[in-house]
Amino acid sequence: MTEPVPTVANWARNITYTAREFHRPDTPDALRALVAGSAKVRVLGSGHSFNRIADPGADGVLVSTAALPPLIDVDGAARTVRVAGGVRYAELARTVHAHGLALPNMASLPHISVAGSVATGTHGSGVGNGPLAAAVREVELVTADGSAVSIGRGHEGFDGAVTSLGALGVVTALTLDLEPSYKVEQHLFTGLPLAGLDFEAVAASGYSVSLFTDWRKPGFGQVWVKRRTDQAPVDFPWAAPATEALHPVPGMPAANCTQQFGVPGPWHERLPHFRAEFTPSSGAELQSEYLLPRPAAVDALCALDAVRSAVAGVLQTCEVRTVAADRQWLGMSHGRDSVALHFTWTEDVAAVLPVVRRVEEALDAFGPRPHWGKVFTTPPPVLRGRYPRLADFRALAHTLDPTGKFANAFVRDVLGN
Ligand SMILES: Cc1cc2nc3c(=O)[nH]c(=O)nc-3n(C[C@H](O)[C@H](O)[C@H](O)COP(=O)(O)OP(=O)(O)OC[C@H]3O[C@@H](n4cnc5c(N)ncnc54)[C@H](O)[C@@H]3O)c2cc1C
Repeated sequence: MTEPVPTVANWARNITYTAREFHRPDTPDALRALVAGSAKVRVLGSGHSFNRIADPGADGVLVSTAALPPLIDVDGAARTVRVAGGVRYAELARTVHAHGLALPNMASLPHISVAGSVATGTHGSGVGNGPLAAAVREVELVTADGSAVSIGRGHEGFDGAVTSLGALGVVTALTLDLEPSYKVEQHLFTGLPLAGLDFEAVAASGYSVSLFTDWRKPGFGQVWVKRRTDQAPVDFPWAAPATEALHPVPGMPAANCTQQFGVPGPWHERLPHFRAEFTPSSGAELQSEYLLPRPAAVDALCALDAVRSAVAGVLQTCEVRTVAADRQWLGMSHGRDSVALHFTWTEDVAAVLPVVRRVEEALDAFGPRPHWGKVFTTPPPVLRGRYPRLADFRALAHTLDPTGKFANAFVRDVLGN
């Protein structure tokens, strides 16, 4: 099926994809034929990225995975699931939970596709939790000539194959590690000061912890502590328990958010902040995020505090999370336990971009790696210097895609080709 391309935009509607054609193949054979017969291809997952990472360019073909069969095959004995790339975490999590099993972590929303999420290094929070890519044990791809390739954990190239920016081929399926199902409670606190912040203790106070601020004053208006009921009770002496249900964006309806007040519930109904049935976040926004070494967290927060009046003018909310070190060569927490500084901006691109640059200057000394799926202005040579295994990724991309069929302008900038 071919659709007029100008109608294809991302979730935030700040990007309209430029492409010669837009296709939604509905069988694996149709996908393979399409890839083999096209010169330039990019894949679209659920379109939740905020930049041109998925854009094939005016001479390329944009391929959506949404109409492909939504395979979710749980192997209870092996504690794994094989899932089609285009399936969203909401559907995946429900099925996995129905088998008494669980994923180790989730992002703030369950609306995003599995392949698109791990391709950009999407993560949740937790000092012991890697990004979502860390659960992947095998990737199945349709490569440039239409042939199927599988790359499993332990095989050469695997550490480049998951967080791949869509540059290696179309991910048709992923096999993920699972664990026994568990329950989570959300405990919210308000009014955590920046002065005297013991970041390590706060970040370790639950399985997954998020701090929120609008930077209108120093400190954090909200702290969300997600506790697994099979782990220690929450002891949070630094701020007061919330007295009403909250949304991370002040003033937005808390009904869109997952259950709070310490009510235990299944992992997939507590780890994301937003309910699958509702619009996540504010819906009218841009986002940026930077990952930097966790030991620098307090210094980096103080650097942001120094520019907070500029930031606050175009900010809806800022979220601070942690991500454990990852092995993926293009993982934003590659080789370093990280703090992730996230910004939900207003949707005014012209007003937001100068502030994005201000934030990047303020954080520059900490070697921040911008989220691959969000808005950033870091110059490509600087970006390349922040990924010590970039040359390995470049070689892997060249092996699987020698003509650069899957390399759009975004990927060429990253690779330096
Ligand atoms: C409201 C909101 C909240 C968010 N919260 C978080 C969060 O908590 N944590 C976080 O880290 N990020 C978060 N993000 C960012 C989001 O997770 C990423 O942008 C992610 O890539 C979205 O997945 P997608 O399927 O929409 O990807 P898309 O935007 O569709 O694609 C992203 C990249 O993946 C590639 N790709 C997609 N599918 C395939 C495939 N089958 N094969 C090969 N390549 C593929 C595309 O070509 C592109 O390069 C959020 C975004 C929004 C809008």
